[in-house]
Amino acid sequence: MNRAGLNLVLQGMPSSLGAYHALGSNIIVANKHILDYIRNTKSKEEYNAYVFAILAHEYLHSLGIVDEGEVRKMNYKLCREIFGQHHITTQFSIDPLNAFPQIQEIDTRKFEKKIIHVEKFDRKNLSYIQ
Ligand SMILES: [Zn+2]
Repeated sequence: MNRAGLNLVLQGMPSSLGAYHALGSNIIVANKHILDYIRNTKSKEEYNAYVFAILAHEYLHSLGIVDEGEVRKMNYKLCREIFGQHHITTQFSIDPLNAFPQIQEIDTRKFEKKIIHVEKFDRKNLSYIQ
């Protein structure tokens, strides 16, 4: 399966939500509060692992797989094949939001209006279209 032209947007959201893909859209929205928190308090390796895990998860949703359990299983299998069973990314892939329990203590309950578009997120597909 493949999918072209995905856009990534960052938005402050309640900490119970890591990221989402609006069904039928070409947009993945990631929780900026959580990304900031992990980037500021964890290692680069942990940050990269978290980002990979949530983006792969939402990418699978964007292929039309709606079932949450199915996506988690596929994401785990994918990461295990790429990184190996004991890699931090593989561990995060099962449930990225549970990777750092402290995430739930970030005090945000509402969706912020401000959103940030990540430039050149899907560059490979962009050059393909141009
Ligand atoms: Zn999901």
